Amino acid sequence: MPSVNLRIDGDIAVITIDNPPVNALSMALGNMLLAAIETAARDPNVRGAVLIGAGTTFVAGADIREISTRQDGVHGRAPFDAIEAFEKPVVAALHGVALGAGLELALAAHYRVALPSVRVGLPEVLIGLLPGAGGTQRLPRLVGIDLALDLITSGQLLEAKDALRCGILDQLISGSDYDSLLRGALEFVRLRISNSTSLLAVRDLEITGFALSRFTQYRAAHEGKWRGLLAQWKVVDCIEAACTKPWDTGYALEARCFRECAESPQFSALSYLFFAERYAAKPRTVSPEATPREIFYAGVIGAGTMGTGIAMALANAGIRVRILETGSAELDRGLTQIRKSYCTAVSRGSLTSSQALEAVSRVSGTLDYEDLRESDIVIEAVIEDPEVKKSVFRQLDQILKPGAILATNTSTLDVDEIAAATERPDAVVGAHFFAPANVMRLLECVKGADTSPQTLATILRFAKRLNKVAVVAGNCRGFIGNRILEAYGSEADYLLLEGATPWQVDTALKTFGFPMGLYRMRDMVGLDVARQARRQRRSDQNARFPFSQVEDQICEMGRFGRKTGAGYYRYDGRRATPDAEIELLIQKTSRMLDVRRKLITDDEIVNRLLTAMVNEGAAIVGEGYAARTSDIDIVYVYGYGFPGYKGGPMYWAERYGLRKIYDAVLKHRGKSAPLLARAAERGSWTGAEDS
Ligand code: NAD
Repeated sequence: MPSVNLRIDGDIAVITIDNPPVNALSMALGNMLLAAIETAARDPNVRGAVLIGAGTTFVAGADIREISTRQDGVHGRAPFDAIEAFEKPVVAALHGVALGAGLELALAAHYRVALPSVRVGLPEVLIGLLPGAGGTQRLPRLVGIDLALDLITSGQLLEAKDALRCGILDQLISGSDYDSLLRGALEFVRLRISNSTSLLAVRDLEITGFALSRFTQYRAAHEGKWRGLLAQWKVVDCIEAACTKPWDTGYALEARCFRECAESPQFSALSYLFFAERYAAKPRTVSPEATPREIFYAGVIGAGTMGTGIAMALANAGIRVRILETGSAELDRGLTQIRKSYCTAVSRGSLTSSQALEAVSRVSGTLDYEDLRESDIVIEAVIEDPEVKKSVFRQLDQILKPGAILATNTSTLDVDEIAAATERPDAVVGAHFFAPANVMRLLECVKGADTSPQTLATILRFAKRLNKVAVVAGNCRGFIGNRILEAYGSEADYLLLEGATPWQVDTALKTFGFPMGLYRMRDMVGLDVARQARRQRRSDQNARFPFSQVEDQICEMGRFGRKTGAGYYRYDGRRATPDAEIELLIQKTSRMLDVRRKLITDDEIVNRLLTAMVNEGAAIVGEGYAARTSDIDIVYVYGYGFPGYKGGPMYWAERYGLRKIYDAVLKHRGKSAPLLARAAERGSWTGAEDS
């Protein structure tokens, strides 16, 4: 049962928030907290207070499930106001994390002390909200507007030493446990009392030294990045009010903006994804008894686009990694690329030079398999050729110690066929990273027929360590993400033949919220790569999937996308321009295939593409290659640019109308995935997924 405990230690009130596992602040808990503060305030012997969380953390946030039903800010602001109005010094003692409403509680206190391992932040925007209990008003008063804008609009967390440097924390308490923290906090508050330090509430601090134009500039700089979003813009409005209006006005604006966000479809979609991410991390296919293995040393095979990105993702997580290549020129090129990427990260300010140096020092290269002998995991990222991959796995099998994980980054090949090249298929798993692998959050973990529960458990824990969002996929062609990409890519190719242009498709997708259109993306990846894959599988050609006659002809013209200066588009550096020559080519192909061209609207484009995505997603879940529809959404949001604020294709479909989707699939494809038919009948995936 959640509780708030009030205990008097000499002349200090120790108020402990206790709601395992993370002390989430619910309405009931807020009321208990308020009662405890009021009791302490009435006690004439109390000369100060310490606010602390029981267990291993302070407060990790508000209880999300309650937010949509609230009328009065996140969780009622009364306890926050009462802390700030307390007439004796209140010290918030932080350990674990202080996030969202947790940090807002701490900001309402007069002082904040913390263990050095603490992390703090206001990540509300990540679920489409903004801090609703004074966070947008108090943080800029403490740390200045620039940092407050960056922290609240990005949701980024700060480590203790950074929080101390910028003024969120007043002191770090040495030690690593609750007892040292409490002792340190009690000493801190007693010292303030004995020094008779005058009390200053954060709300009374003045924000000075800013130009009003800062807000205009900030909005302009984020125009593209926040397209379609709501909460980020509201945060800027609130921080602007904090700087320009009296406290009461800014505080009231924040409450209104919070409500607006909490009532928006974006909050529903993003909070759905928040839980979807947690379900994906606990797949039913991993038995609870499977103990993940420890990973200390890693190997990567291939220092190309993916191998270098994967090596950086590992190095950033503190793992030593050795990359193996075929020759020293290839290896040098890869290692140079890694150093360059770290230099860019430093010049952009995303890493300090010492962090970059440390990461670089964890990466080394080799041409000899013997040097990988000690690896706990090896991730293969060589060219997409089954024979090359099998030969790599054969060699790895020869030298790796028992228990090591053999992972392949293949995007389309059969994981079981690769595993069969070894004597230990139970240790083989797909680890499908996305480019750039050190940036993109998704990791599709592909379970082969023989992949052991322990191997799967290990790769899932490893993903978490790399700060990736892992989804388990079965071993079907293209797994989850690329199988869906192929389905809706074919639909887009039909749309071209029926009357659309690549630029119209791309604009329609961008207007829907994708960061980049499909044809721009194909040009970026390289049309030759896809042509190679098509050639390899000509044999399974399906009449409904024409393997893009248009794209084959574009390749024949030597146009492989951005790298050759032309593909679907013409390129001037990164600038893409539509090309009349390609429009003529498409028209000619329509005539050749006897497809009558007609006017296609942007709505039709979006509906047909999303319908194709949803139908394929339903097929994947129905066939058991994904555990649930929310896993499809995670893959599409974290790996394929589906706008998170629309929840993912399967979530979107339920709101759009599964019956409409089903009818459209029948119209365009003749038959639908059985799961879609069942879901259309119920109007929901729930229930249909399990039957
Ligand atoms: P790439 O061509 O950039 O790199 C491949 C590297 O592997 C080259 O440096 C090559 O020298 C090296 N190599 C080839 N044979 C080797 C061998 N026998 N031993 C050691 N090294 C060898 O290719 P990439 O884009 O990095 O793709 C690698 C893998 O990742 C492919 O399976 C691809 O399907 C997959 N993948 C690519 C992307 C992407 O966006 N590029 C995304 C996800 C997955």
